[in-house]
Amino acid sequence: MDQSSTILTPPAEPRDFGFYLEGASVPAGSREVFVRNSPGHGVPVTRMVKCTDDDLDAAVASARRAFDDRSWSALTGADRATILLRTAELLRARIDEVAYWETLENGKPIAQARAEVGGCVGMFEYAAGLARSLHGDSFNNTGDGALGVVTREPIGVVGLITPWNFPFLILCERVPYILAGGNTIVAKPSEVTSATTLILAEILTEAGLPAGVFNVVTGSGRTVGQRLLEHMDVDMLSFTGSTAVGRAVVEASGRTNFKKLGLELGGKNPQIVFADADLEDAADGVAFGIAFNTGQCCVSGSRLIVERSVAEDFGRMVAEKLAKAKIGDPLDESTQIGAITTDAQNETILGYIEKGQAEGATLISGGAQPDLGKGQYIAPAVFTDVTPNMAIAREEIFGPVLTILPFDTMEEAISMANDTEYGLAASVWSKNIDTALTVSRQVQAGRFWVNTTLAGGPELPIGGFKQSGWGREAGIYGVEEYTQIKSVFIEIGKRDHWIK
Ligand code: NAD
Repeated sequence: MDQSSTILTPPAEPRDFGFYLEGASVPAGSREVFVRNSPGHGVPVTRMVKCTDDDLDAAVASARRAFDDRSWSALTGADRATILLRTAELLRARIDEVAYWETLENGKPIAQARAEVGGCVGMFEYAAGLARSLHGDSFNNTGDGALGVVTREPIGVVGLITPWNFPFLILCERVPYILAGGNTIVAKPSEVTSATTLILAEILTEAGLPAGVFNVVTGSGRTVGQRLLEHMDVDMLSFTGSTAVGRAVVEASGRTNFKKLGLELGGKNPQIVFADADLEDAADGVAFGIAFNTGQCCVSGSRLIVERSVAEDFGRMVAEKLAKAKIGDPLDESTQIGAITTDAQNETILGYIEKGQAEGATLISGGAQPDLGKGQYIAPAVFTDVTPNMAIAREEIFGPVLTILPFDTMEEAISMANDTEYGLAASVWSKNIDTALTVSRQVQAGRFWVNTTLAGGPELPIGGFKQSGWGREAGIYGVEEYTQIKSVFIEIGKRDHWIK
C-alpha cells in the first residue's frame, strides 16, 4: 500500500489471511477459501479460510485449555493490565494499517476508519484499569464466628460473533473487557470483514497474551457461527447483529447448555428536534446521524421527529447539509460517505427507497446511486409525508434513509419515539433543560444523547432496551457482564455440632 499519497490504492493482489488458533495463524492448506471484494472498488482485496466444523471445535478446545490451565484467569489484575496496555501501544503503532484493511473490506471512509481504530486504543487502556480495579465484596456483619466474601470470577470460554458494519470497533468494545475479566475467546467475525479481527489476534500475541486465549475462526454464520452458538464447551456468547439471528442465538442456548448471552441487535432510533433547539447544530447532527457509516449503523438516527412549526424548514436544512457531504472513494482522505458494504445491503436499501415512494412518502432529496466508475454508493435519502405505519418508518433499513415525522406536543414526541419494538438509542435537540431532561427520562433507549448524537467513549456502556438486546458492553458494566459472582461463607473457630 502506498501510504504517502493522499489517495491510497487497493492492493494489486488479494492478501491471504489464515485463521487463528493457539497463538498462531493457520494457513488454508487444503481447505476452501473465499475472496472478499472491496465494495468501494469492486476488486478482490482479501482471501479468507472457510473454516470447517473441526476447525471450530479446535478453536473452542484451544480456548477451553487456555481457560482451564489458568494461564490467563489466574494472573494478577496488574499482569493482565500490562498485556492490555501493551496491546494498546502496539495497536497505536498500527492504526494506519488496521484502518486500511477495515476500509477495503467495509467501504467506510479511511479517515473515519482511522478515528475508529484510534478510539479502540482507548478501549484497551481503559480495560487495563478495570483489570486492576475489578473486585468483589465482603460481609462482616456475620458476627465474630463467620465472614462472608463475594468474589468475581471469569465466566470461561466466550464466543464472540460480530457484524460487518464496525468490524474492529465492535470487536474492541468487547475483547478488552472480556479479557480484563479473565476469560478466553473464540471470535467469529462477519464473513465479509474478517481481516482486522485477524490482525488484532497477531497484536495480542505480540503483546504477550498466552496462546489459546484469543482464537479466531472465519467462515459463514450458518456454518461455523451456528456451531459456535450450539457448542457445549462455550460458556457465554456475545452476539452483535440482526434481531433475526439474535433469535437463533437464544434458541440455540436454550437447546444446548444455557450459555449466558449478551445480545446487541437492531434499532430504529429517533432524533427528536424541538423548535427551541439550535437548528443549525441539530441539522448537522441529524445529517451526521443518518449518513455516518452510510447509515449502516445500529444506532443511526433514522427517524427524525420534529416540532411541526419548524418541520418543513428543518427538513430542508438537513437535506441541504446531506447534499453537501462528499460521497467518494473510501480510500480518499476527503471522503465523508463511502460505499455500501454488501451487494445484498445495497439491494435492501434501494428496495426501501422504492417502497417508501410506493407507500406515498415524498423523497425530497437523495436516493440516487452516484456513478463513481467503481463500487456501490447511495446518496442519503430524505422522506417527508411519512406516516408512522409505513415500512420505512418502522423497519430497520440499515442504510442512509431518513424519515421525517412532525409532532405538536412533547408527550406526542415521546410517544412517537417509543412507538417501536426497538430501544437502542435516541437523541433530543432542545435548549430548554426541562424539555431535554424530561425526554431523556421517558424515551426507552439504552443510549441517549442530548444536543449531540453517536458520541461516547470506553467509560460509557452500550446496549439496548426492548428488542434491541440483553446486557451491556463497555464501561465497568461491560466487564461485569463477563464475570460471575461467587459467595463464600467462612466459619471461624469451632463448629456448633448438628449431631451432638
Ligand atoms: P447478521 O445478524 O446477519 O450477522 C451478524 C453476525 O452473525 C455475522 O458474523 C454472521 O456471520 C453471524 N451469523 C449469521 N447467521 C448466523 C447463525 N445462524 N448463527 C451464528 N452466527 C450467525 O447481521 P449483519 O448483517 O452482519 O449486521 C447488521 C445487523 O446487525 C443490523 O440489524 C444491525 O442493527 C445489527 N447491529 C447491531 C449492533 C448493536 O450494537 N446493537 C451493532 C452493529 C450491528
